[in-house]
Amino acid sequence: MGVFVSKGGTGTLFQLLNIATKELPSSEELMLQVHALLAKVGPKDRKFGVKARLSGALNVTMTFIKQNLQNPKVLLPCLQVLRVYCTNSVNAVSLGKNGAVELLFKIVAPYSKKISSLPKVALDALGSVLKSKTNARRAVDGGFVLVLLSLYVDWHRNDTRHRHMLIRKGLLVCLRNVINIKLGRKAFLDADGMKILYNTSTECLPVRTLDPLVNTSSLIMRKCFPKNRLPLPTIRSSFNYQLPHVPAAGPVAQLYSLSPGVDDVVDESDDNDETEADTDTENEENEKDDGNTNDDIETDLNKLHPQRKLTGSFEELRFYERFFLELSGDLHSSSSSSACAGPIIVPTAQPPQHVSPPPAPLTALDLDSIHLTEDQNQGSSEGLDQDLGRVSLEEGGASIRHILGEICARRGGGGASTWGSDCGSEGAEDEPGEGAVLEVPDTALLLPLHDPDLYVEMVKGTKSVPQYAEVAYPDYFGHVAPTFREPLLERVYGVQRSKIFQDIERLIHPNDIVDKVVYDLDVPTCPVIENNGESLRFNSQFESGNLRKAVQVRKHEYDLILNSDINTNHYHQWFYFEVSNMRVGTLYRFNIINCEKSNSQSNYGMQVLMYSVQEAIRGRPCWVRTGSDICYYKNHFARSSLSTGGVKGKSYFTLTFSASFSHKDDVCYFAYHYPYTYSTLKMHLRKLEALRTPQIYLRQDVLCETLGGNVCPLITITAMPGSSSTDNIYQLRNRPLIFLSARVHPGETNASWVMKGTMEFLMGSSLLAVSLREAFIFKIVPMLNPDGVINGNHRCSLSGEDLNRQWQSPHPELHPTIYHTKNLLQYLAHIQRAPLVFCDYHGHSRKKNVFMYGCSLKETVWQSNISASSTELQEDLGYRTLPKILSQIAPAFSLSSCSFVVERSKESTARVVVWREMGVQRSYTMESTLCGCDQGKYKSLQIGTRELEEMGAQFCVALLRLKRITGLFNHQHLVDMETEIMGSHICTTTYVLEEDEPDFLEAVDYSAESNDDDIEPENEPGTDVPENTDQCNKDDSAEKSDDGEMNVKREAGQTE
Ligand SMILES: [Zn+2]
Repeated sequence: MGVFVSKGGTGTLFQLLNIATKELPSSEELMLQVHALLAKVGPKDRKFGVKARLSGALNVTMTFIKQNLQNPKVLLPCLQVLRVYCTNSVNAVSLGKNGAVELLFKIVAPYSKKISSLPKVALDALGSVLKSKTNARRAVDGGFVLVLLSLYVDWHRNDTRHRHMLIRKGLLVCLRNVINIKLGRKAFLDADGMKILYNTSTECLPVRTLDPLVNTSSLIMRKCFPKNRLPLPTIRSSFNYQLPHVPAAGPVAQLYSLSPGVDDVVDESDDNDETEADTDTENEENEKDDGNTNDDIETDLNKLHPQRKLTGSFEELRFYERFFLELSGDLHSSSSSSACAGPIIVPTAQPPQHVSPPPAPLTALDLDSIHLTEDQNQGSSEGLDQDLGRVSLEEGGASIRHILGEICARRGGGGASTWGSDCGSEGAEDEPGEGAVLEVPDTALLLPLHDPDLYVEMVKGTKSVPQYAEVAYPDYFGHVAPTFREPLLERVYGVQRSKIFQDIERLIHPNDIVDKVVYDLDVPTCPVIENNGESLRFNSQFESGNLRKAVQVRKHEYDLILNSDINTNHYHQWFYFEVSNMRVGTLYRFNIINCEKSNSQSNYGMQVLMYSVQEAIRGRPCWVRTGSDICYYKNHFARSSLSTGGVKGKSYFTLTFSASFSHKDDVCYFAYHYPYTYSTLKMHLRKLEALRTPQIYLRQDVLCETLGGNVCPLITITAMPGSSSTDNIYQLRNRPLIFLSARVHPGETNASWVMKGTMEFLMGSSLLAVSLREAFIFKIVPMLNPDGVINGNHRCSLSGEDLNRQWQSPHPELHPTIYHTKNLLQYLAHIQRAPLVFCDYHGHSRKKNVFMYGCSLKETVWQSNISASSTELQEDLGYRTLPKILSQIAPAFSLSSCSFVVERSKESTARVVVWREMGVQRSYTMESTLCGCDQGKYKSLQIGTRELEEMGAQFCVALLRLKRITGLFNHQHLVDMETEIMGSHICTTTYVLEEDEPDFLEAVDYSAESNDDDIEPENEPGTDVPENTDQCNKDDSAEKSDDGEMNVKREAGQTE
C-alpha cells in the first residue's frame, strides 16, 4: 500500500474517478470500485485531501452519494472516502458549501434494530465537517443542535447493552464541535442541552466503559455553562497602598487609571466571536510547527557573555563599605553589636534616628557616616538619600500608636490571638472547648528558635497595610514537624468528574444553592458573624493572611475568593486563613475559585496544610497535610482581560478540597504551604544571636527599609579569626564570599524554611559548620520582600510588581531591597570580591524535588538554533559543580530537573543579572518544590519543613565540598579539576519546561484548553489555528482528545 501511494497511485485513482463520471450514464460499478479503493488508500496518504480537492473529486463523491442515498452498499465506501476528505479543513469548508452538512444529517438516523456501519461513518465525517465554524453555523441555522440532542437521547435509551458506544460518541463529538461557536452554545442551552446531558451522563456514570461519553458530555456542559461573574465589586486588591511615586507607565498607574465606571471583574470578552463564521482557513494548509523550539531562549551572543557592567560611581558604592566590616578586619567593633539586646540590627546603613536604640558609637561607623555625608554633599546618591529619608516619615509613629490602641482589643467570636503580654494566651477563653485549657504548648526544646512571647514582640514592630491587630495561632505557637510520613495523595479515579458534576448541578438545581456570604473583606463590618448560625466562620486578618471572601454554596460547601496582591488585580495562589464554628466529623468542601495557573501540583498528590489549635494545646502544634477529593480544574467564572494582560475569554480555575475536623470548638487554619511570616523571621534572627560563641562572627545589619516601613535585614556569618595575628586577619579578609537571598516571592514560603535551615546550620556547633565559617564569609538577605510576605501577597511587593523582574534597573524608591542588594553585589565586584556563589532561594509550584537554574552560555546555545564558533563558546564549567554535589548529598535534590539556559523572559532576574553584570559564574536560583519528591529518599512523600531545612543545611555542606574541590588549585586549573572530578562535561541537562508530570488516568478536561487541542484558543480573534491537516492515518482523530490525551498548556516562566 505504501508503495502504491508513493508511486502516485492515489492520483491515478482520482483520474479514474473523473473518467468514470464523464461516461454517461456513469458507470456505477466502476465508481463503486474506485471509491472502495480510495477508502483503503485514503488513510495511508498524507496528501489525500489535497489531491482529492485538486482533482475535483470532492464534488464527484458528493454527487454520487446524493444519487445513492437509498443504496447502502454504494453509500458505505463513498462515506468512508468522504470521511477522509473532511479531515482536511479546507475540504471541510468546501464540502459544507456544497451541502455536506444537510446531506450527512439525512444519513445519520435514529436507533433501529438493524444497524449498519453507515451511521458511524457518517457521524465521523459530520464531526470533521463541523469543525469548521462556517459549517457549525450551518448546523445551528438548520436546527440540527436539537436533532443531535434528540438522536443522542434516542440512542442512549435504546442502546441498553452499550453495543454502539461509538455512534453515541460520534453524536457527542458533533455536538462538541457545534458548540465551539457562540450560537451553538446558545442553541444548546435553548434546547435544554444541559439537563439532557447531565441526566444521561448521570445514568452512564456507573458503567466505566461509558466514560468517554461522560467525559465528552462533561466537556460540552462546561463549555456551555454560562460564564459566571466573581461575586466581587472589583478584582483590585481590597487594600490600597499609596505609593510615594507612581511611574506613569507602570502597572499601578494602569490599574488606577481606569475610569470609575469600568467593571474590571468581567468584560465583553466572551462576546467577540461573532465574526467567527467567516474566519475559516481557506489557505493552503501549512504544517503546524512542532512547538519544540522555544523562542524564549536568549540567542544574542553578546548577552550570553557575562560582562561586568557596573552602574554608578565607586564613590556611590562606597556607601556599602559599612556592610563589609569583616573585609576591613574591624571585628571588635562589630562583635560588640551582639551585646545589644534591643534591636536586632546593628550597625545600620540608615541615619541613626531611624533605629531605636541607636547603634553603639563605633569608630568604623563614624568613619562610614562621614563618607555618607560627603556623598550627600556631592549629590551622587540622590535616589538613595531620598529613599532613606522617606523612612523617617510618620510611619513608625503610626505603627506605635496602632500598637497602643489595638493592644488586647479582641474581636468577638474570632479565634486569632490578640497580642499583648497579658492576653496572648487566652484566645479561646470565651469558647469553652472540650475541657481543654488553652495553654501555650511548651516547644522550647523542640523549637530552639521559637518563643511565643518574643513572637508577639516582633509582631508589634511589623507594619502591615491593613494594620493587622491579631496574631494567628500557628505563628504564635510554632510548628513542630510531625514525625509521621506524609505520602503524596493518591488520586482517586473520578474525583474531578464528580466535582465538576456538582458544579454543574448548581445550574440544574438552583434551588439547592444557599449562596450566603459569610466573610467579606470588602465590607467594613467583616467578617459577618452569626452567633447561632451553622455556617463556618472565616478570618484572615493577620500577618500573611489571604482570604477575601467566603460564600456558603451548600450546607457544607464554601466558595472562597483570594485577595489580589496589593496594587494589582491578580496573582492569586497563596492562601492562609482561619476557620471556626465547625461541626465535628462533617466533611466540608472548600473551593478556591479564583486560581489563575492552568495546572497545579494539587492534581499530582499535593495536599493543603491544616493547623488545629486544639491539637496544638494537646501537645501537637503542627501543620499537617490534609484534604481529600483534591483537584484543580478550569471553572465557569469569567476572568476579565484586564487581569490577564489583554487575553480575552479566559476563566479562573478551582482548587477544591474536602476536610473534616476532629475537635469541637476548634480554631483551624488552612494554608497553601507552611507559613513563614516576617515576624517569624525576625524572631528566628533574634534567637540566632543566642547561638553565637566567641568563635562565631555574626552581624545583623539593616540593609534598608521597605516601602511599607519594615526593615530588610542583612546577615553576615563567618568565623572569628584564630588570633589577631596578621596572618589570621589576612586569612579572614580573603575568605571567598557566599551571597544568599530568599523570599523575593512571598507565596514561596518554602524558600524561607530552606533559608532557616541554612542559617541555623551555619550558626551550629558541628565540625562542618566550623569549617564552613572558616572557609567563607556568608552574606544573607533572608527576605527580599518583607512587605509582600506581611500583607499576604503571592508574588509582588507593594509596588505591584514582581521584584524578581527588577534586577536590571531597580528603582531606589520603589524596589529598595533589590536596589540595595544589587548595590552590595556591585560593591563587591568593584573591589574584586564578587561572590564565589550567589543563590536566590525560591519555591516551585508545578514541579517536584529541589533543583537549580543556572546560567551557561554553551547550554543556552545548544538549546537554540544559533551557530557560534568554538572560541565564542569558551566557558568555565564551574557552574555545574554545585548542583552535581547537591544531587549527591541532598536527598530532595534532582540534577535532572536543573537547567542552565538563559531565557529572555528571565533577563531581569537575580540569577541572570548577577551572572551577567557581576560576572558571577555560579549564580543560581534554587527552586524547592511545594509538593514533594518523585526520586531519592523522599520519593512519593510530600515535602515538610524538616526536609526543607535539611535542604538548607545540605546546601552549606555542598559549599564545603565545592571549596575542597576548588581550593587546592589556582583558578586556572579549576575548570579541568572540576570537570574531572564531577564527570564528563559533555553531559548536558535537558532544557526543562515548566511542567513534566505524566498523564493521569482521569485525563478529563481539568483545563478546558486541554481538550481543545484541535480548536483555536477560545475567542481569540485572528489566531485561528489551522485545523488538522491531512492527518488521515488516524481513523478516529476526533476522539483522541477525549480519551486520554492531556495537552497541558505550558506557561512560560512564572516561577523563578
Ligand atoms: Zn519564585
